[in-house]
Amino acid sequence: MLPEKMKSFGRTVYTVRGRADMRRTKMIIRYRDGKYFLSYGAGVTEGAALIFLGSPRVLDFFLKAEKRRVSVKPAGIMYGGSEFIFQGKTYPLQTESGSRVCLTLSADKAVFVRPDNISDAEAAAFLKKWLRARLAETVEKRLPVWERVTGLKASRYIITTVKSYWGKMDIATGLMRISDKAAEKPEKAVDYLLVHELTHLKRRNHDKVFYAEIQKYMPDWKEAEKMLKH
Ligand SMILES: [Zn+2]
Repeated sequence: MLPEKMKSFGRTVYTVRGRADMRRTKMIIRYRDGKYFLSYGAGVTEGAALIFLGSPRVLDFFLKAEKRRVSVKPAGIMYGGSEFIFQGKTYPLQTESGSRVCLTLSADKAVFVRPDNISDAEAAAFLKKWLRARLAETVEKRLPVWERVTGLKASRYIITTVKSYWGKMDIATGLMRISDKAAEKPEKAVDYLLVHELTHLKRRNHDKVFYAEIQKYMPDWKEAEKMLKH
C-alpha cells in the first residue's frame, strides 16, 4: 500500500488503490475538482510510485490540467462543481474515488464517492437523481399536511426537471408539478410552493384574493417566498 498522500513537483497527490482487475504495476494520474489522484495496481511499490511521480510525463499532466482549470468555467452549483446545495445549505463538495457511487452529507461537507470508470455525465446524473429523490421525500411528507390545512387536494404530483418554474398546477386535472431545483431550497420554501400550487385549485390568477387565501393558510408565506428567490 502507498501512503495516503504523496508529493510530486510541489503538488499533493492522493493515492487510490485501483480495482482488483487493474494491472499490478499500472499507475494512472488523474485530476478532479482541483486535486490530483494516483490510482495504482496491487504490485506498485512506493519506490516505483516516486519514480513515476517524478517523471516529466506527470509534470506535463499537471501543467495541462492547471491550464485547463483556468479556462474552464466552474460547473453548475448542483452538479460536479465544488459546492453542493441542498435544502438551503451549501456544502463544500469533496469527491473521492471508490468502488460504488454514493453521496454522504455530514454537518460541514458533502462527500461524493465515484468509481474512476464513470463519466462526469454519469456522476452528474447520479447527483441529480439523489436530489430528486430527496425532494420527492419532502413532498411526500409535506403535501398531505398542506392538503389538510387548505382542504384542497392535488390528484398527484410529479417532480420535473423544468427550470422555468418552481411549481405549476394543472387546474383541470389537479396534477401538481414541482421543479427539481426546489431541492436546493429549505423545507419552508417547499411548503410555500405546495400551498401556492394547491391554492391555484381555488383561484387561477395571482391576484389579491389568491394571496389572501395563502395568507390564511400560511401567515409567514412572504418569508418563505423570499427563500425561493435567493
Ligand atoms: Zn402560481
